[in-house]
Amino acid sequence: MKWLLACIAPVLLAAWILFLSAHGPASWVLLPGILIGIACAAGLSFLRSFSPALRALSLTLYLLPLGLLSTYRASAFSVSKDFELGALPLASAPSEMSIAQLPTGVTYRSAAFGYRGGSLFEPRVFSMTAILIKHPKGDLLIDAGFGRDIAQHLATLPLPFQLLTRYTLNKTAREQLQSSGYDLTRLRAIILTHSHWDHISGAADFPEVPVWIPPAERSFVQGEDVTTATARSIKSLHIEEYRFDARPYLGFAESHDVYGDGAVVIVPAPGHTPGSVIVFVTLADHKRYAFIGDLAWQLEGVTEQEERPLTQRIADFEPRLVREHLAHMAAISARYPELTLVVAHDPRSFASIPKWP
Ligand SMILES: [Zn+2]
Repeated sequence: MKWLLACIAPVLLAAWILFLSAHGPASWVLLPGILIGIACAAGLSFLRSFSPALRALSLTLYLLPLGLLSTYRASAFSVSKDFELGALPLASAPSEMSIAQLPTGVTYRSAAFGYRGGSLFEPRVFSMTAILIKHPKGDLLIDAGFGRDIAQHLATLPLPFQLLTRYTLNKTAREQLQSSGYDLTRLRAIILTHSHWDHISGAADFPEVPVWIPPAERSFVQGEDVTTATARSIKSLHIEEYRFDARPYLGFAESHDVYGDGAVVIVPAPGHTPGSVIVFVTLADHKRYAFIGDLAWQLEGVTEQEERPLTQRIADFEPRLVREHLAHMAAISARYPELTLVVAHDPRSFASIPKWP
């Protein structure tokens, strides 16, 4: 009995840390935490009475929670690279152009889930927001947030992730547009920053609107990665590929100018997924935004250059590239503070964008 406790307690502690980080802190999580803490202390106190082999096994299991906690410590972020940013690119956006946000829902997490160094006990609400760009040459959505079938979409992902995800669905992007009398035929495309469940779900509500992703993201969706199971499950998706031109933009080697006027320019930023992109938007009054998708999950990812910790290995296709693009965006932000960085899941970064309608 004692050996069972000594071996199970550290595993429970690891599970509790994982749960707290992904789910966000809640008072009811604390009581099991205290009980698990007592069990761990008891397990450790029995160690001396165990055989050397059992003692070694139990101590090894204690490395699990320690390993998890170590991923949260603030660490030096080192990308030694000079980014050739150049001047702010010119844009001639039409005066009728505008942008608006459509918040479709939220998930509940902790700061520790969002960025390295964040507290396990600081709740963070993650935004799931679509952006509408109105332009005389046809409107765009950047990401689509949660759609009508979000429950089904979440169910396509691994069970542990489902158990670690608590969410609220508000009004979907389609419902918000329709209830305001918006003419849906104006929508030219949905630009995905990447094809994960929480960005693509709402696109399922617009079977008539093309979903734009670059070839690298299309092959990723067509592969077998567990994180794109949602995208594969949506049969009505009308995917259209676009390609990048060898035209540098703020230090990125390639770009795709959607309207040809510099108002909406997409650059490749692979890392979180192979076809992740950043969308730069410039309005007629010269307000500038960079929609960086899930390059970071919270603003601190860029301002403190602390990437997501524990989940990085699961969530990021190539963490090294994520780090590099974070440093690149931090350099852009430092040089051009007038450009607003919009982190898809940080509600604070949407503050200056008017709500639709
Ligand atoms: Zn996301």
